[in-house]
Amino acid sequence: MSIQNEYLNGLMERVMKRDPGESEYHQAVREVLSSLAPVVNARPELIREGVMDCLVEPERTIKFRVPWEDDEGNIHVNRGYRIQFNSAIGPYKGGLRFHPSVNESIIKFLGFEQTFKNSLTGLPIGGGKGGSDFDPHGKSDAEVMRFCQSFMNELFKYIGPDTDVPAGDIGVGAREIGYLFGQYKRLRNEFTGVLTGKGLTYGGSLARKEATGYGLCYFTDNMLKNAGKGFEGATVVISGSGNVATYACEKATQLGGKVVAMSDSNGYIYDKDGINLELVKQIKEVERARIKVYVDRKPGAEYHEGCVNIWNVPCGIALPCATQNELPLEGAKALIRNSCFAVAEGANMPSTPEAMDAFQESGVLFAPAKASNAGGVAVSALEMSQNSMRFSWTFQEVDDRLKTIMADLYRNASAAAAQFGLAGNLVAGANIAGFLKVADSMLAYGLV
Ligand code: NDP
Repeated sequence: MSIQNEYLNGLMERVMKRDPGESEYHQAVREVLSSLAPVVNARPELIREGVMDCLVEPERTIKFRVPWEDDEGNIHVNRGYRIQFNSAIGPYKGGLRFHPSVNESIIKFLGFEQTFKNSLTGLPIGGGKGGSDFDPHGKSDAEVMRFCQSFMNELFKYIGPDTDVPAGDIGVGAREIGYLFGQYKRLRNEFTGVLTGKGLTYGGSLARKEATGYGLCYFTDNMLKNAGKGFEGATVVISGSGNVATYACEKATQLGGKVVAMSDSNGYIYDKDGINLELVKQIKEVERARIKVYVDRKPGAEYHEGCVNIWNVPCGIALPCATQNELPLEGAKALIRNSCFAVAEGANMPSTPEAMDAFQESGVLFAPAKASNAGGVAVSALEMSQNSMRFSWTFQEVDDRLKTIMADLYRNASAAAAQFGLAGNLVAGANIAGFLKVADSMLAYGLV
């Protein structure tokens, strides 16, 4: 993945020198800059006016301590983040991640990616991301509640329905959003759409829970149809078993695919008869247990330790839906060897740069996360609209809008790639289409 422009190369070097330890952030910036050379070659004012330099520096980084008490009365201190990356086209928007691996580099890469993704949806939302190194696994509901309340005691100062609207991500689902929203409401004495992914009884949108996974399959379906293929009759492998993976599995099955493998961070299950999703939901959503429990209840299914080996399972379509860099070159080679014809990213940056190159060089249809997982944030923006109107759309209305947004997104990414001489390259197309709207808005405001 090389950057074919001298200025952008220098910029990449400056980014690495300024924050040397931030490998995930460097990876995300390199991936975008490597697509933008033809754009800045055609439009040198983007460099002259400072847009490119501003683009790689967050508008604001907020970092805070989060003290909380466990059920035994012990005090713990975690670290919280909110990175308000770019508000050129709307209020900052992006999820909160609670996972022990969270650090500034990861939140920065996610906020940077989010800026382009949100732009691609065609909706007026800027880019941001946040989270904490807190691990909700194994904590009681009361402990999670106390943590979320403490997190919001600081975060509420910086967010608002017209300023910054967080949502869920890894480790932040309906339970956490409820505690966070409840605390914001107490502190502000306001009932506003300050978070998305809310429960349906207090301002949430129908189809938000399903949106990222469904949107991923709608995008993939557009990409497949354009190549004369489809989900119908295809074997599908999906990594993860959280929110994105679950609803990707549901929609892929509805579209005629057969999902045979899913995973969590310990290992993967293989079910040659097709995954029983109701059982997965019971294990992961209701019991919050490990995926390996599946094989105790489903005769004939297999469990394998080590989540990364899931890519050895033969399939036509692979949907990585767990976390960043979960699909390395070895996994890509195994998929290609087994005649996989399409890879669509549900997680953020799940394929390593080497894996992405391998897919593109071997002619595998490849949908990059920025485009293919944008359905979640798109429906979050629809939740914001419904909150502003104090009105709710039906499931069908939201789902129809989601389908239209994902089809437009596919068309726009394809068109942008073709316009800059890179037809068929959705990685470049998504980066370029997402970038142009943000860059033109930044130019319009002048340098500040
Ligand atoms: P969840 O917390 O609901 O699920 C995450 C899943 O990934 C779990 O099965 C988890 O397993 C697994 N996982 C986490 N870390 C690792 C790891 N290091 N290796 C292997 N598996 C791992 O998160 P989401 O489904 O919400 O998010 C998944 C991905 O999708 C993330 O990259 C997120 O940024 C992205 N995304 C999410 C959106 C949303 O609307 N939720 C929107 C757009 C992107 P375990 O239980 O063992 O931890």
